[in-house]
Amino acid sequence: NQATKWDQVDQYISDRLVPHDAALDEALSANREAELPEYDVAPNQGKFLHLLALIQGSKRILEIGTLGGYSTIWLARALPAGGQLVTLELDPHHARVAQSNLMWAQVDDKVEIRVGDALEQLARLQAEGVEPFDLIFIDADKPNNPAYLKWALAFSRTGTVIVGDNVVRDGEVLNRNSSDPRVQGVRKFFDLLAVEPRITATAIQTVGSKGYDGFVLGLVTG
Ligand code: SAM
Repeated sequence: NQATKWDQVDQYISDRLVPHDAALDEALSANREAELPEYDVAPNQGKFLHLLALIQGSKRILEIGTLGGYSTIWLARALPAGGQLVTLELDPHHARVAQSNLMWAQVDDKVEIRVGDALEQLARLQAEGVEPFDLIFIDADKPNNPAYLKWALAFSRTGTVIVGDNVVRDGEVLNRNSSDPRVQGVRKFFDLLAVEPRITATAIQTVGSKGYDGFVLGLVTG
């Protein structure tokens, strides 16, 4: 069936282009042991994020939604010496597992996990006068995506890259009457992106081991 084929092709891609990596494998098995939901990005998607950060030369990265830190490790590994990543996570259990995974991957010196509701943490970052970020990855609770986009813009400079995950949701994004607040959050996210003059964006549909979904890629232009 189709899903099996998507899985197999993801495996084919990862076998060739995403080298076996002890720390990343260890993070995924630690996540499973700690019974975290398997909402992490796929390995080939993790590497895609890593490449985006390298292409951009990101020195400061903001991630909203840490889970066990799988995507965090990929992004942190793209940072140069002195680079910094701030990642926001609501669930203290997820954050603890992530902290240990980041230590195994030896990127913990570059990463600050802030535990608590992302909207509160974002307000706190602003109050602290945080410097703009180069790349912002939005991957937390989807109903808040419109609010996260506004915050992301507040923490952007011209040239900041904004990525948002899970924006297709098995095609449910088409369903304007959906009772799923995550679908409605993603639809509002698109509506905001469409009218927001400071960002130019597109979205790409994806299939693979994580099903049928997609991501938004945006560039802040002013
Ligand atoms: N980026 C991770 C990766 O690819 O490895 C996956 C993140 S997972 C899709 C979403 C995470 O956002 C979960 O760990 C969840 O606990 C967290 N989350 C949900 N609501 C949140 C909120 N209001 N504030 C901060 N984090 C939240």
